[in-house]
Amino acid sequence: MHDLCIIGGGVAGLATSIFTARAGLDTLVIDGGESILARNASLENYPGFPNGVDARRYLQLVREQARNAGATFELGRVTSAERRDDTDPEAGFALETDGGDPIEARRIVAASWSDSEYLVPLDVGRTQRGSKHFVSADEAGRTAVDGVYAAGRLAGEPHQTIVAAGHGAKVGLAVIHDSDTDFYHDWVAPEGYFTGRGRDVPPGCEEIDDDERRERDERARKRMRDAFAEPLDDQPTMHPSVERD
Ligand SMILES: Cc1cc2nc3c(=O)[nH]c(=O)nc-3n(C[C@H](O)[C@H](O)[C@H](O)COP(=O)(O)OP(=O)(O)OC[C@H]3O[C@@H](n4cnc5c(N)ncnc54)[C@H](O)[C@@H]3O)c2cc1C
Repeated sequence: MHDLCIIGGGVAGLATSIFTARAGLDTLVIDGGESILARNASLENYPGFPNGVDARRYLQLVREQARNAGATFELGRVTSAERRDDTDPEAGFALETDGGDPIEARRIVAASWSDSEYLVPLDVGRTQRGSKHFVSADEAGRTAVDGVYAAGRLAGEPHQTIVAAGHGAKVGLAVIHDSDTDFYHDWVAPEGYFTGRGRDVPPGCEEIDDDERRERDERARKRMRDAFAEPLDDQPTMHPSVERD
């Protein structure tokens, strides 16, 4: 039984997983295809990349970050989600996928823009606009069903990467809160920031000394130098209805 299963390893789902895995929740991400962002030709409005970034590279790096945080991944399309026991809200959920074994999780986050059919048995409340379905959720992503959350575009958030990532993070924090995990802030502070004022380092926070800070910076710079050393070969995915020779 996983603490959390995130359905959809695109922008929002990956952001959720970074927060929940860092908080120590056993987090599984199931992804059945590719993020819609793989269709982008140059991602130029995501803060932190002054001249933009290859969207596929961005996705690779976020996936790596989620893995580093402790999230695990499974390939497959989720086809149904049901309560394990209708009489016990704590019993969690059982998920079926189109390939692998059934999966059980205490909580689930639907971050699967373009598909939420698997939620129909749970009756979370969906609205339809044109051919698209959106899952009804409060601003932290909580749906009408306890333990079921929605993140990113699927939750009706604006269709931008930074917004989907931010919403995914917010949903992750809601999951952490609802799991009674003692994780005040996910912060790394310089040595003495709390203890220098006679305070304990709050749960979820870390104080690091200057040597450790320099080591982490060196590691981070090396990884980014390697990651950006060569252009990616992958082409943007074209819209399926565009005919090509
Ligand atoms: C052509 C194009 C260009 C764009 N350019 C920009 C841009 O320049 N700047 C910008 O900010 N935004 C851009 N966007 C928008 C951006 O890509 C989206 O807003 C963002 O990806 C939404 O994130 P999400 O996590 O909600 O969905 P996604 O990133 O699409 O993630 C959803 C994930 O769920 C998976 N999934 C779906 N169904 C299932 C299932 N049943 N089981 C398991 N997994 C499932 C999918 O495989 C996917 O990986 C662009 C979009 C397009 C189409």
